Amino acid sequence: MSTRGPGVKLLIAIAVGFVIGLVLGFALLGLPDAVRADVATWLKALGDIFVRLIRIVIPPLIFFTISAAVASMADLRRLGLVLVWLLVLYITTSAIAAYLGVVAGQVFQPGVGIGLQPPAGYTPPKPPSAVDILLSFFQTDFSALLAVGGAMTMIIFAIILGVAVVLLGEEGRRIYSFLRLASNTMITMVRVIMYYAPVAIFAYAAWLIAVYGPQMLGAYGKFLLAQYSFSFIHFFVVYGIIVLTGGLSPLKYFKIQSTPFLIAFTTRSSAVTLPYNMEAARRMGAPDEVFQITLPIGATVNMDGTALYQALSAIFVAQLFGIALTPVHIGLAVTSAVIGSVATAAIPGGGTIMLAFVLGTLGLPLEGVGIMMVIDPISDALRTAINVSGDNACTILITKLVGLKLRSSS
Ligand code: ASP
Repeated sequence: MSTRGPGVKLLIAIAVGFVIGLVLGFALLGLPDAVRADVATWLKALGDIFVRLIRIVIPPLIFFTISAAVASMADLRRLGLVLVWLLVLYITTSAIAAYLGVVAGQVFQPGVGIGLQPPAGYTPPKPPSAVDILLSFFQTDFSALLAVGGAMTMIIFAIILGVAVVLLGEEGRRIYSFLRLASNTMITMVRVIMYYAPVAIFAYAAWLIAVYGPQMLGAYGKFLLAQYSFSFIHFFVVYGIIVLTGGLSPLKYFKIQSTPFLIAFTTRSSAVTLPYNMEAARRMGAPDEVFQITLPIGATVNMDGTALYQALSAIFVAQLFGIALTPVHIGLAVTSAVIGSVATAAIPGGGTIMLAFVLGTLGLPLEGVGIMMVIDPISDALRTAINVSGDNACTILITKLVGLKLRSSS
């Protein structure tokens, strides 16, 4: 593999950028509103440039890494095993996260006794049905593969292509070499763009605090406290246990995972963080043939942070409107949050758009989506960081479950 990790200096630059950004964001809170809004617009633009550059590379990156990884598995039985374990672990961890979201809502009761209103002029969206969601995984034509909503179809296409290359046997080797070279090229492209990351992370962190800092008080503050504390419980306890079972020291996992965590926190997109998560998986010693399948699929379907958030939001919205939830509702909240998180697009704010599905399933007021939009970026930051961290934790365990070993690398 010709790709190497980013330099330690770059990682330090990213962390320093994040901290300076946070400090600047709090300092900006002291400025008059109009000036603060102006500065915030520029800061956000600096971050958006980074996200747009990465997003251009994402479709070919997902396509080439998955198809090359599948094609490299001469043993199709092992591929089947990876996919089965991936499904089992991704769904189990998301269900645990969604349940923690329910518990967080009951412990903190963030919406009890408070009447929030949707932003002026907001019209509630029409929630998709479960059939709509299922069919959206299979887009109608080839051109739709490149759209954000086409990511799942792209994954299915890439897996089938990889299988076809294996079935071609000797003849397929040349296509495999091409796919692998293209995949390495895309990863290298991302490494080039990464040199801009410290600036983007600095700008996004400052923007987030300058614009959303005031909302950290009051009922929203309570919601965020509930979400943040239970998300961190999920991160440290559930992922700690998973990587330990997979044979990796949790300390090493948390240390290496901190870089994609920060990138996800500030860019608020699992898709944009994918290349950094792959780099982290490599540093944890996961084999290429495993993480090149589990991570692109995970970025698209495995979103524990989002599942926790959607279940908690459902409880929050019910509390705001004074609606009592039965145990059946709670079960539905967990199930629909798992489905909703799978269907959520790996982009900023995707989880709040899909919240309409969860609220609709429970028969809760869809105005809840508008209510949650108010604090979406702050909430999105952590749920995205948890989303990508879950993919890597599961990858470590899947490696063990399919009978492969972690490399003992840095
Ligand atoms: N932004 C999240 C992600 O990309 C999805 C969400 O909004 O919950 O992982």
